[in-house]
Parts: sequence; structure tokens; C-alpha cells
Amino acid sequence: MSTQTKIKEIEDDFLDPDEPQPQPAPTGALAKREQTAPVPQSLAELAAMKGEALEVVQARIQVLETLRRAAIKTTNPEDWLLFRDKREGRVVGYLQDCGCERVRDLYGIRIFDVQEPIKKESSDGTYVYIIRGSGYCALTRKAVPDIEGGRSSQDDFVEHLEGLQKELYVRKAARANLDGNITRELAGLNSVPQEELEQAWKGTSKKIEHCRKGKGFGSSVERDGADLEVMDGINQSDLPICPKCQAPTKYVPAGVSKKGKRYQAFLACEERECNWTMNFAKWKKDFLEKKEKKEQEQKPPEEAQSPNKDEAPPLPMEEPPF
Ligand SMILES: [Zn+2]
Repeated sequence: MSTQTKIKEIEDDFLDPDEPQPQPAPTGALAKREQTAPVPQSLAELAAMKGEALEVVQARIQVLETLRRAAIKTTNPEDWLLFRDKREGRVVGYLQDCGCERVRDLYGIRIFDVQEPIKKESSDGTYVYIIRGSGYCALTRKAVPDIEGGRSSQDDFVEHLEGLQKELYVRKAARANLDGNITRELAGLNSVPQEELEQAWKGTSKKIEHCRKGKGFGSSVERDGADLEVMDGINQSDLPICPKCQAPTKYVPAGVSKKGKRYQAFLACEERECNWTMNFAKWKKDFLEKKEKKEQEQKPPEEAQSPNKDEAPPLPMEEPPF
């Protein structure tokens, strides 16, 4: 069957499903909007509509925004992997394969032309499964042809498995990854700002703190104790030694005491007998100020630069001999 025929079939199915689709029924405003949602038009069609076109475009934007929020709301924090951009400190969420399954039907996303998975083996016995397929979103009329998905026998999730069982899981996960890649691409859920996740989960028990943390959050050991907001920009290795007994200190995230009193994040001496603690925010402010000052001092002053830029930079000054 040609791709065009397939797309036509998916559209018909989405717009006029004669059998109930396995998808959560939208309620309230969303249900109403979905029924009256204009079928997306091409630019030429919109231009021909003149005045009405703007309304159509606005309605489409509204439908997509509402749908996006509803889709995120159906996902769980565990479905998301957070990444922090080290330079800008911006945190974005990546919807993992397991979460993609939850939102696929809401968008009318169908996956087709799925090819046989291909196994590629290394000389050391490890292998990957690669699988290709295409996707189409009936809501936006966007198609993504020939997308690749894949998984490796070295992935964490199959660490405890062996032999054929491992192979089965890797192959299944490769397919889930293909479906995930298509869904993320078509639904635009590759990189969702933290604020948008929080907004969609408002009023539910779903919290950004329960998302998995990936790149930009330090090692897994550091991540375990790291409070998303407060630990910001501070590495485990930056923590001071205890001024009282010189033992290492640890970061204790903010919380609520047994008596129900809220407390802020603090640093505590790791030595059992020592009772030194310090407010983390206060320490962090001092630390960052000192760090910045140090970095400024290390920068060569601009006036001192050699007039001829091709010349080698001056050697670092030696200690004065007194
Ligand atoms: Zn101490």
C-alpha cells in the first residue's frame, strides 16, 4: 500500500472512527473542541479563506495548546527525563518511550511501514537492534517518513537478563523506541520546559521532583540528594570541609521536621559527634561570589595584552623572589 493511501486511511480512521479507539475519552471543553476542531488546512486553502483564515489558525492554535496540556497531564513524572542546560541553567523534559504510549492516541498518531528489526553484532558479543518505520499525525497532518529506533544489549534495563530473554527485551524496546521517536517528533515532546510540565500538573499530585534526572544534574550519586532548585550550579565536590573538625560536609535538602516545622536546605558535618551546620543558600551565595572573584582575577587584564596579537602570550609571572 502506498504511503498516501495509508495516510488517507489513518485520517479517515481518526476523523470518523467506526469502532471505538482505545483512547481516554476527552471530557469537558476538550471534548467539545475536538469535535468542532477544524481539520488542519494547507496554507493555500487558508489564504483563499481570507478573513476566516485567521480565526481558523487561532482555533487550531487553541486546540493544539489545549491538547498539549491534556497530553502532558496524562503522563507521569516518571515518564520524563530532565536535562539541564549547563550554560543557561534551563531545565527541559524529554518524554521517554513509556510516556509516549500514553499520548499517542490523543494526537491521532499512527505508526506504519514498520520494517523487520535488524540485529547488528559487535565482536565482543554485544549487539544493537535497529528498526525503521514511518509515522503520521492525523491532527496536524504531519508525516515523518523512515524514522529509526534502536536499543542496545548494554542498556541498563537489560543488565539483569541474559541470552534469548535479553535479546527479546532489547528487540521489543527497539520497537518502543521507534514508536517513541515518532511520537516525540510529531507531538513536539522532545524538549518541554520544566515550567510547562509544572503548569500542566498543577492541582494534581504529580511533581517535577519525581521526574528522573539526566544530563546536567551531576552523577547519579549526586542526583540522589540533589534538590532541583537549591543545588543549582553546585557540585558535590564544591562542598566545604567542616570548619570545626575538618571532616567532609553533606548537603541536606529542605524538608519538614518530625514536629511539622519546615526547614531550609543546609550543610551538615558528616562527623557524627560534630554538630556543625550551615544554611545552604547563605553558604552558596558566599561560595559563588568568591568563585566569581577568583575567575575575574585569573582573567588576564585586557590592557596587558601584547600589541601584536600574533605574538605568543606572555608567560605566567613567576613568584617574586622575596
Ligand atoms: Zn565537623
